[in-house]
Amino acid sequence: MRRVVPLLLLVLLLTRAALAGKSDLVDLAPGFRLDIRYATTNNFMKMKLYPEARAFLQRPVAEALTRVNSDLKKQGYELIILDAYRPWSVTRLIWDRAPAAWRTGGYVGDPARGSRHNRGATVDLTMASLKTGNPVLMPTQYDDFTAAAHANYQGGSWEARKNRDLLIRAMARHGFTVLPEEWWHFDHRDWPKYPVMDVPFNKVDAARSR
Ligand SMILES: [Zn+2]
Repeated sequence: MRRVVPLLLLVLLLTRAALAGKSDLVDLAPGFRLDIRYATTNNFMKMKLYPEARAFLQRPVAEALTRVNSDLKKQGYELIILDAYRPWSVTRLIWDRAPAAWRTGGYVGDPARGSRHNRGATVDLTMASLKTGNPVLMPTQYDDFTAAAHANYQGGSWEARKNRDLLIRAMARHGFTVLPEEWWHFDHRDWPKYPVMDVPFNKVDAARSR
């Protein structure tokens, strides 16, 4: 018995490690509207951080997001993806270039820990109206670091809060939790299962078939 317990523990650890290593990033472009700000200079860093405007998520996470999108379409809205999987080296680049106050304030991800975006189970998004095609009113712009960006902010217009709360509820029904400080940032409940990755966008397909 004394030898069996450590052996069982070892098997458990190896199984967990094997599961954690599974990554299957899929391209969101076919089914989703994209507005990848980090592929332009229209972002909080005023820098082009991605070479291409692409968005990837782990397959089960992308499938959950597809279900959110079809729920919202029945209500006259659709998702606009602002950011999804982010290679680790981009997290490090943002950290290196960001003002010190943003680092100490926790507004940019510490590369020592890795951002949840590095795992492909986290997504930044907003909604558009299907009737007008335009993004709906939200309490703030994307990557706003003020209290108005908090998911429970009660100021601002009623319409903006109504849109934000509709988005948060639709995401929650399919396993996504909003970040309390950022109404646009959602983690899928399975995020700890996936590893921090540094595969560039143009190598994602190759990494999958390896
Ligand atoms: Zn985010």
